[in-house]
Amino acid sequence: MRHIAIIGSGPAGYYSAEGCQKTFGDAARVDIIDRLPVPYGLIRSGVAPDHQSIKGVARRYETVALSDTVRFVGNVTVGSDVSIGELLDRYDAVILATGAPADKPLGVPGDGLPGVIGSAAFVGWYNGHPDFADLDPPLTRGDAVVIGAGNVALDVARILAKAEDEFAGSDIAAHALGRLRETELATITVLSRRGPQQIAMTPKELGELAHLSRALPVVDPSDLPSPESDAALDPGLRKSIAHLRAFAERKDDKPVHIVFDFFARPLRIEGTGVAERVIIARTMIDDLGNVRDTGDTYAVPAGLVVSCIGYRTPPIAGVPYDEKLGRFANVEGRIAPGLYAVGWARRGPTGTIGTNRPDGFAIAELIAADIPADSGKRGRIDLDELLAQRGVEIVTFRDWQKIEAAEVARARQGAPREKFATIDEMLAVLL
Ligand code: NAP
Repeated sequence: MRHIAIIGSGPAGYYSAEGCQKTFGDAARVDIIDRLPVPYGLIRSGVAPDHQSIKGVARRYETVALSDTVRFVGNVTVGSDVSIGELLDRYDAVILATGAPADKPLGVPGDGLPGVIGSAAFVGWYNGHPDFADLDPPLTRGDAVVIGAGNVALDVARILAKAEDEFAGSDIAAHALGRLRETELATITVLSRRGPQQIAMTPKELGELAHLSRALPVVDPSDLPSPESDAALDPGLRKSIAHLRAFAERKDDKPVHIVFDFFARPLRIEGTGVAERVIIARTMIDDLGNVRDTGDTYAVPAGLVVSCIGYRTPPIAGVPYDEKLGRFANVEGRIAPGLYAVGWARRGPTGTIGTNRPDGFAIAELIAADIPADSGKRGRIDLDELLAQRGVEIVTFRDWQKIEAAEVARARQGAPREKFATIDEMLAVLL
C-alpha cells in the first residue's frame, strides 16, 4: 500500500488522483486536501461562469472522488491546520497541486490605487470565490481597461460587456450579476503590449466576441500586419488573427465597445485617490522581436483597471520555491524526496485544463518509480487523528454533495447553481 496526499482539488489534483488510481489500483489510498469546503479549484472559481460546458469536466472528477481509494478532505489548510512536514511524516508521497491563484504584480506606479484589480481577484469575485466576495469593483466610475492579451483578458472583457440576459444558464455569482447590471461601461479597452500576431488569445474565445448582443469588438485595421504574413503562423494563431481581421471590417455599431489596443504598454495609473486613467506607452516590435517604446504616450480613462497578465503559485513554508518563475522549484515534478508538484504549481500558469491530465498521470509514474510500497506509514488514519486533536473538522465529499445540492436548490431560474460565497454559508448547510 502507498499513502498519497494531494494538496489542491482543482484539475491538477483530480488528474493526479486519477493517475494514481490507474497506476496503483487498490494498492494506494489517496487523500485530496483542500482549504475550501468545496472541491474543483479552477473549474469552480476560475473557468468563466458562462462557459458551463468546460465546467462539465467536474463530473469526471466526481467519479474519481467517489471511488473507494480516493477521499476528499475539505476545509483543511496546509500551512496552518497541518504542515508539509507533518504530511510527509504520515504519507509516502505529497503532491502539491495548489495551482497559481495569486496575481503576477503589474509593477507600475499607481497599481495600488483603488480600482486597480488583478484578474485572480476579479475572476474570483464574479465566480463567487469566498476570498473575493467583498471585492466591490468600481463598475460605474467611467470606463474599463483590461491589461493582457490572453484568454483571461478575454474572459474579463466579455463578462464586463455582456447584457444581463446573456448570463442565462451561467452560474455567475448573484452579487456580481447585480453589480454588472448597474454598469454603465461604454468602452472596455484591452491592452496588448505586442501586436495581433503575438496574442495568446485562442480562436474560439475571440470568436465569441463577435456575437455579443450589446458589445462590438473594435480593431484598428492599421494595427494588422499584411495578410500574407499570417501564413507563417501556427494554425491556431492564424484563426485568431482571422477573427481580428473580421472585427476590423465590422461596419455596424453597438452601445458597448471592446477596443483592442495593440502595441500598448501600461506605464502608470493615475487618479486622485482612485484610478482615473491609464498612461500608455506606444510600442513597436523591433527586428529582433523585442518590444520597444516608440516614445509616444497617451491616456485612456478608466475607473476600473483589471490586470490579466498571469499568475503565481503562493509559496508554502518549507517548500523550495523559484521566486523568478513564481512556482515551486522542481525537476519534472520532483521537489524533494516524497514531495512533488503538478499542474500550474509545477510548470506555471499555461495550457488548458486537459494539459493537466498527462501531468497527473506522469506524477503517478514518478511516485511508482521513487517510492517503495509498504513503508509502514499510515496516511489518512494518522492525519485524521492529528486533525481531530486540533479540532479541525473535515468536510467530506458526501458533505460537499449536500452543499452542492443546496446550491442547486437556490439557483436562479435557468442557472445550474447559486454558489455560496462565504465559507460560513457552506458549512451552515452541514449543521
Ligand atoms: P497568458 O495566456 O499567459 O496571457 C498573459 C498576457 O499578459 C500575455 O498577453 C502577456 O503578454 C501579457 N503580459 C504579461 N506581463 C505583462 C505586463 N507586465 N504588462 C502587460 N502585459 C503583460 O495568461 P492568462 O490569460 O492568465 O491565461 C492563463 C492560461 O489559462 C492560458 O493558458 C490560457 O489560455 C488559459 N485560459 C484558457 C481559457 C479558455 O480556454 N477559455 C480561459 C482563461 C484562461 P506577452 O505575451 O507580451 O508576455
